[in-house]
Amino acid sequence: MSDNDDVPFNRDFPLKPGVVDDIRPGVRRILCNNPSPFTFTGTVSYIVGKGNVAIIDPGPDDEAHAAALLDAVRGETVTHILVTHTHRDHSPNTARIKAATGAPVYAEGPHRASRPRYESERISSESGADRDFKPDIEVRDGETIEGSGWALQAVATPGHTANHLAFAWRERKYLFVGDHVMGWSTSIVAPPDGSMIDYMASLERLTQRDEDLYFSGHGPEIPEGPRYVRFLIRHRQAREASILHRLAKGAADIPAMVPSPCKRRRRYSRHGARDLYRHRPAADRRRRLFRAGASGRPGRAWDRGDGWRPADRRDVSARVTFGSFRGVRSTNPESRDSGFDAARRPGMTNSYFFTTFG
Ligand SMILES: [Zn+2]
Repeated sequence: MSDNDDVPFNRDFPLKPGVVDDIRPGVRRILCNNPSPFTFTGTVSYIVGKGNVAIIDPGPDDEAHAAALLDAVRGETVTHILVTHTHRDHSPNTARIKAATGAPVYAEGPHRASRPRYESERISSESGADRDFKPDIEVRDGETIEGSGWALQAVATPGHTANHLAFAWRERKYLFVGDHVMGWSTSIVAPPDGSMIDYMASLERLTQRDEDLYFSGHGPEIPEGPRYVRFLIRHRQAREASILHRLAKGAADIPAMVPSPCKRRRRYSRHGARDLYRHRPAADRRRRLFRAGASGRPGRAWDRGDGWRPADRRDVSARVTFGSFRGVRSTNPESRDSGFDAARRPGMTNSYFFTTFG
């Protein structure tokens, strides 16, 4: 089955942590020093406006980053704090910025899962969630948050998390997309926290809007946003097609379905996920076939290239018994070396990592 690696990723992002980057009139960005295979070079926080400003995504629990943000707005007034979603690399620092500025916090709501967990998921894959976060003002889809000299419309974009919002500066045709769209990689969609069905619908949604410059939670800005999003949609659709193709051809065990390690390594280097694999033996890589629900809808499956994942138990039963998938639970401590807290938990399944990139 042919690959579909035609998403025009851009990993050119030389911004250094703590440096205030005046990227457009009324838009400044500051990189937090929290690089990892999941955050790329780190979380990007944005300052919108001049004089009376909003801060979007204060970032992880990181004192130095909070200080850098507050330094950047010295002499100005922070009137709003906006949060795209409740992952630990985006929202925890909100408490510090709020304590320092008194600004109210706007977000869709506290963290929540997209669907109930399956029994097999009782080891939470949600430890990347910031469960302490609670906005002062819960923002609904389409509502506009007005500041002085700027207005940001909330665009509900569930998928990466159920409560994910993008913020559109409509007048400028800018969209602050959080983790819904990233220029350097595809986004993590890890159920039950995330939902592939919602994610796809949220991508479609952006193609109907006229904002064309995207500012992402990680990595560089994305010109021609809707065009880029169409690449992402096609990429996921091609993955799905390749999974169904392999199933139809009767590939029913893991080695039969997973391409050779060499081929995979090449592909990951293009996806920017190579670090995850570099030190792992091929046999360990090959075990990473796993299930990853897509909102429980039967008959669909999603793949990220290193194998395939039936969307839920019902899909598995179509061709392979669910028991085949138990092997994906790795006991190799090396496989927990990701930058994500969740992945370091004892007993954490590998599946969590590998629902991450798509
Ligand atoms: Zn996130």
